[in-house]
Amino acid sequence: MDTSLLNGLNAEQLAAVTWPPAAALVLAGAGSGKTRVLTTRIAWLLDTEQASVHSIMAVTFTNKAAKEMRSRLSSMVENAIAAMWLGTFHGLCHRFLRTHYQDARLPSTFQILDSGDQASVIKRLLKSLNIAEESLAPKTLQYFINSNKEAGLRASDLNAHDKTTRQLIECYQAYDALCQQEGMVDFAELMLRSYEVLLHNAAIRTHYQQRFNHILVDEFQDTNNLQYKWLKLLAGDSAAVFAVGDDDQSIYAFRGANVGNMQTLMQDFGIREPLKLEVNYRSVGHILTAANTLIANNSGRLGKNLRLPESKQGEQGQKLRLYVADSDFLEADFVVSETKERMKEGVALDNMAVLYRSNAQSRVLEQALFAASVPYKIYGGLRFYERQEIKHALAYLRLAVQPQDDQSVLRVINMPPRGIGARTIEAVQAVAHDRQSSLWEALQFLITEPANRKLKAFVDLIEQLQAQAKGLELTETITAALDLSGLLEYYKTQKGDHQDRIDNLQELVSAAMVFNSADVQTEEWVKTDDGLWPLVAFLSNASLEAGERQAGEGEAALQLMTIHAAKGLEFDTVFLTGLEEGLFPSEYSLQERGGLEEERRLMYVAITRARERLYLSAAQQRLLHGRTNYSMSSRFMDELPDDVLQFLSSHRKKRQETLKIRQEPFIHAKRAKETFDGFVIGQNVRHEKFGMGVIMDAKHKGEHATLSINFGANGLKNLSTQFAILEVV
Ligand code: ATP
Ligand code: MG
Repeated sequence: MDTSLLNGLNAEQLAAVTWPPAAALVLAGAGSGKTRVLTTRIAWLLDTEQASVHSIMAVTFTNKAAKEMRSRLSSMVENAIAAMWLGTFHGLCHRFLRTHYQDARLPSTFQILDSGDQASVIKRLLKSLNIAEESLAPKTLQYFINSNKEAGLRASDLNAHDKTTRQLIECYQAYDALCQQEGMVDFAELMLRSYEVLLHNAAIRTHYQQRFNHILVDEFQDTNNLQYKWLKLLAGDSAAVFAVGDDDQSIYAFRGANVGNMQTLMQDFGIREPLKLEVNYRSVGHILTAANTLIANNSGRLGKNLRLPESKQGEQGQKLRLYVADSDFLEADFVVSETKERMKEGVALDNMAVLYRSNAQSRVLEQALFAASVPYKIYGGLRFYERQEIKHALAYLRLAVQPQDDQSVLRVINMPPRGIGARTIEAVQAVAHDRQSSLWEALQFLITEPANRKLKAFVDLIEQLQAQAKGLELTETITAALDLSGLLEYYKTQKGDHQDRIDNLQELVSAAMVFNSADVQTEEWVKTDDGLWPLVAFLSNASLEAGERQAGEGEAALQLMTIHAAKGLEFDTVFLTGLEEGLFPSEYSLQERGGLEEERRLMYVAITRARERLYLSAAQQRLLHGRTNYSMSSRFMDELPDDVLQFLSSHRKKRQETLKIRQEPFIHAKRAKETFDGFVIGQNVRHEKFGMGVIMDAKHKGEHATLSINFGANGLKNLSTQFAILEVV
């Protein structure tokens, strides 16, 4: 055996890694080496030939984590691990359904719906059922469907006690029928369908139960009930389930995750005591203290300790740096300048992360980074593949493999505009409705009439794409689709600057270039003979990895992501931004039972991502979802002990400056004549929140002027004329 594998582990870690082939739960805090233990255990099982690559299944929480584990394993063992069942729940279920599509009653070319796609399908469904959005909000239905699927419940399993629920159940049923007809599978369906195949098909179930001797699960605290049932079914009586998790990092309760699964696992698999790891190897002392102090405010914890390793005792590291900016723009500037400082200090860009509570917050940061030419990369969320132009392009590609996909037909039948108006589209829908067929079949029927020239041209185009997809390489297929569809040309000739859309479309070709179908383990899939499978694999991957952009691979980039997406990862430097009441903790969470504690766990996850340096920042004024918000800083900042914090904001200094200004309201005569987006220095203005103020200074002319306004007791504020509502008095 390669003993170096086990070198450097502490006694508890070693015991966990070499645990006999029986069920175990490792319960331990952030940075204590759970993932390292899990990875090392796989390597050890392989190395000591207790298990083969074939007989191990490992579940991670994100695609990024799966990739990291794969590369770590490759460096630890000689075995070729490409074929190992290692991935996210969704990824593994997808693989399972590709292999057993017939048993799952799916077409071999089934497509995955991400949540945006799902929302459009639901809207379309409601329209076809003549249900107005006012009487049933699409979001409500989407939530109803997903939460039931995640609980393992079909429409037929549900009972209605009132009219509203009856309607929801009927719509759920109709939605499933529609997806089935069009060969579409949403995220929750990937899980539920796989589970049902295993449950109802004894031969398949036995095959997998015999195959997997070891099932290892990372981030176990965030499994939902269906995932747990799926795992249990796969494990059967013989597989050793090895789960690692941390109750303090459970952050998916809103999606049905159930920390109670830890207890259930122990009961179901006869685990007497969880294994514990108590040394944190990741963060310096001050960061650890901050995390421990914060999470102590939660109740009902399973209770764990985290301490520094002996060798690092007394190494507190630098204090956490706190910064309260006047606006989100200035907060972004702060992130940019500190990033540059850290780079000068020798920290690589990819070793730094900017975290935020919600995806929408990234835009301002992106702008600032872009302007400062700092390369960055966004993880998680549905960024790249969610963009309109990419969705259009993917729709063409989907039609090339599966023209029955009504969703895609509707998306691109007149995009780019080819003179097919809403009335014609309704006519096509009516024919499909009468004939109980897909839109594609309705089109086939309609084009026999010479008057329907434009529809004929669209059908010809799709058929041409189908032919291309069978004969060409993946990248060529995509290039051809962009050209033939006219999409690229459309954006090139449209008024306005569409360069980023054009870049994105081109990026899709780059994505195809770096796409390695081996990554999605096609060897087990049924490779249809029609030459379509690389494209099918690519499209599925696009849905699964939405947002995890491949382009720019190898280039060092600052890592931007939501806190949810950062789970399990670590960075030398972390910027935790947007620490404002209403944003983090989110307004929504405060109305939910247990919501605040879940937000606090999220904060705990965020803090514990940092190894050396942690910045905490907030903005007093933020433009989000088209509205300017003025917020107090987050209560989580107040929950941190003072002695681990260093206040960077110039607030104390600024307060003195404001006083000075108030005493000497001297305004330079020349500047007083200039106008800044219609405002002049020295003018009195009223702001809805800050009250009366006087414009002391201004920057930038035109519509993006920033005014420094002295609001007396409310202090000096820098407000953008674009966003702030100011009344001249
Ligand atoms: P999280 O809860 O955030 O997922 P974790 O418990 O999975 O954290 P790991 O990511 O496995 O923790 O480990 C945290 C860091 O500590 C990693 O950089 C890892 O390599 C390092 N580490 C773990 N164990 C040891 C050890 N015995 N000696 C030195 N470093 C270690
Ligand atoms: Mg981990």
